[in-house]
Amino acid sequence: MENCIFCKIISGKIPSKVVYEDEEVFAFHDINPIAPVHILIIPRKHISTINDIGPEHRDLMGRLALVSKELARQHNIDERGYRLVINCGEEGGQEVQHLHAHLLGGRPLGGVASN
Ligand code: AMP
Ligand code: ZN
Repeated sequence: MENCIFCKIISGKIPSKVVYEDEEVFAFHDINPIAPVHILIIPRKHISTINDIGPEHRDLMGRLALVSKELARQHNIDERGYRLVINCGEEGGQEVQHLHAHLLGGRPLGGVASN
């Protein structure tokens, strides 16, 4: 997707602090972290929102979850606890239209989905 900032990050046109990549999943530090650990985990393939996934993405979404929990372990927040968030659409607070999960941790995160 030409004008997608996260597609540009995956292709290296926009620099990022990469923390993980494989053939399907890419992860990098959020540019504006709201917690000591704030990593974005994204599919390489451009999917706009969680509304756009189908049964064909079951394996991909599973990999996203597996990579996320492994990154939580590597950043030593697995035992303390953390939050994995996928925002969707306008009222869900999604600003970048390329499906991504936020891995947030390293501080107490408060009540339901507050940041
Ligand atoms: P969302 O509001 O769920 O769409 O989250 C988008 C996230 O992308 C925000 O937390 C931004 O700080 C982050 N972000 C935007 N541009 C960049 C970038 N160039 N590199 C890293 N993170 C970014
Ligand atoms: Zn994209």
